[in-house]
Amino acid sequence: MTEQQKVYPVAEDFAANAWADNETYLSLYQRSVDDPEGFWAEQAESLDWFKAPTKIKNTSFASSNVDIRWFEDGELNAAYNCLDRHLETRGDQPAIIWEGDDPGQDKTITYRELHAEVCRLSNALKEMGVTKGDTVTLYMPMIPEASVAMLACARIGAVHSVVFGGFSPDALAQRVVDAQSRVVITADESVRGGKHVPLKDNVDAAMTRDGTDIVDKVLVVRRTGGEIEWHDDRDVWYHEWVERQSSECEAEKMNAEDALFILYTSGSTGRPKGLKHTTGGYLLYAALTHRYVFDYHEGEVYWCSADVGWVTGHSYIVYGPLANGATTLMFEGVPSYPSHGRLGEIIDKHQVSILYTSPTAIRALMAHGENIMDSSQRDSLRVLGSVGEPINPEAWSWFHRVIGNSRCPIVDTWWQTETGGIMITPLPGATDLKPGSATRPFFGVRPALLDNDGNVLEGATSGNLVLLDSWPGQARTIWNDHERFVQTYFSAYEGVYFTGDGCRRDEDGYYWITGRIDDVLNVSGHRMGTAEIESSLVAHSAVAEAAVVGYPHDIKGQGIYIYVTLGDDVEPSEELRKELTQWVRKDIGPIATPDVIQWAPGLPKTRSGKIMRRILRKIAANECEGLGDTSTLADPSVVDELIEHRANR
Ligand code: ATP
Ligand code: MG
Repeated sequence: MTEQQKVYPVAEDFAANAWADNETYLSLYQRSVDDPEGFWAEQAESLDWFKAPTKIKNTSFASSNVDIRWFEDGELNAAYNCLDRHLETRGDQPAIIWEGDDPGQDKTITYRELHAEVCRLSNALKEMGVTKGDTVTLYMPMIPEASVAMLACARIGAVHSVVFGGFSPDALAQRVVDAQSRVVITADESVRGGKHVPLKDNVDAAMTRDGTDIVDKVLVVRRTGGEIEWHDDRDVWYHEWVERQSSECEAEKMNAEDALFILYTSGSTGRPKGLKHTTGGYLLYAALTHRYVFDYHEGEVYWCSADVGWVTGHSYIVYGPLANGATTLMFEGVPSYPSHGRLGEIIDKHQVSILYTSPTAIRALMAHGENIMDSSQRDSLRVLGSVGEPINPEAWSWFHRVIGNSRCPIVDTWWQTETGGIMITPLPGATDLKPGSATRPFFGVRPALLDNDGNVLEGATSGNLVLLDSWPGQARTIWNDHERFVQTYFSAYEGVYFTGDGCRRDEDGYYWITGRIDDVLNVSGHRMGTAEIESSLVAHSAVAEAAVVGYPHDIKGQGIYIYVTLGDDVEPSEELRKELTQWVRKDIGPIATPDVIQWAPGLPKTRSGKIMRRILRKIAANECEGLGDTSTLADPSVVDELIEHRANR
């Protein structure tokens, strides 16, 4: 039996102690779709409201009137829910455990301390003239001040826009201008893998770009003490401004539909979109999913290894865990520094119960062999999670066996920046697992598969993944561009939310994301997702990573062009090329026989680690001019190397 067909049943003792066993899941799910108003009204009681909502759901997906509101007459504050309400019962419990890039550096911040620090920064922002509804751009390292800054904005009703600290000055400037931020919060430098990244220099450079003269204050955290330039009229030190403030600051009363933040998508498919998330629905959805999907229990240490610059960091480092009073671990560095055993060592050091990471991180570790985990035991782990891309069954098994000691359920969570929180996922006490499948919808989520004409497909089948009804965590619009919001998500098919992803549903009703619809191959009339072929290749011991795209082919319409990154110590050869061709042919069938295999020392990825197939498609088609928006590419030199060695000239 291949890994793809294996089933990992829920362990009985796990189910017995979990928030939801299968019966609970099924009955809550049924209720959530039969009576969304009743279900969400009840769930909303888990938040602290200044004014409890009486209107629960008011949503329209009609393309002529896309309008999404949840809890629209309720009033609350996200920071209050993440901090103040925990002070009485868990004021001295760690809220954030910070692990530095250097294994010798760490820090624990209790709920009481975090509350005080957030209040001080809130007061500092007020002193700068930031008021309710203003936007503040954050360009920060993975340090506690990043969470503090998000929560301080939330506390005073300012809208944060976090820009990932790996972005260039141009990308930063574009986002500052789009959000019209008067204040930017940054640090002198960030530290990753022993290297310093000049954040403040990047901000200085960004501030020379058109339109950024709206920024009148840059608040700088001193992280490294590295040398930076100083502009007296604009730059201020975080510690100087924050230290002298009062540690009390009343939380602003926000309407549930007031904006909480703007966040730009990863840019895998084109120009990034600035999604607007609002306060009540988003926070409730982040908190509820965090509790059920990771089966979070009081006192556990939970670690999401994403960057706060992505939605995963927003919902599952900051808002979800803190709303639930959890202890959330924040890691400044990379899993390969100072050695490839670091991930496991952090788990042991802080006795982490839950680890949420990405397929790209797992594949990177896998390429170095399993003995990299010899330096740790990882006995504290209870639940593992994955997000960002389809997880290849081979990587799933490695995650399960090597990192989780074959003991821990894996939740493969499908969702998007636009969805605010996890949408399709196992619940670890409820769902039997199949490697590579995101399994079943979360409460309130109504997925459907459509054919290209918009017909709903029933039963075991493949199609375009859409969502039939709204859920509270959904983005409300694209900042300043509602028309683009409607165009992108509500115009492909009338009356439903279009995800852009392709998906298969099996005979058990489990969902398998097959890749982005734009990436689907059409070979001699057969439509194929990228995930299946890539997973087949990754299952070969020589292959570390693979990316599949179609290219114009005279006879088949599209041919199959594969970029393969080999594992450590594997040399490319003609023999290996033939072997891999046969491997895929045998594994999936003659229709999937690769036409071209190009050896790729690296693949073009977004800064969040996702493969950008649209660029690979251009290279395969020999269209190396005009590669589209490449501003979110992590390492542009990878592209030059692939162009130089392309096989199809
Ligand atoms: P852009 O929208 O700018 O192209 P992006 O789609 O990469 O960027 P995100 O919102 O970070 O930005 O990613 C969401 C996408 O990631 C999903 O639409 C899906 O394609 C993929 N994805 C996320 N989690 C999973 C998962 N568990 N399984 C399969 N695919 C996933
Ligand atoms: Mg997307």
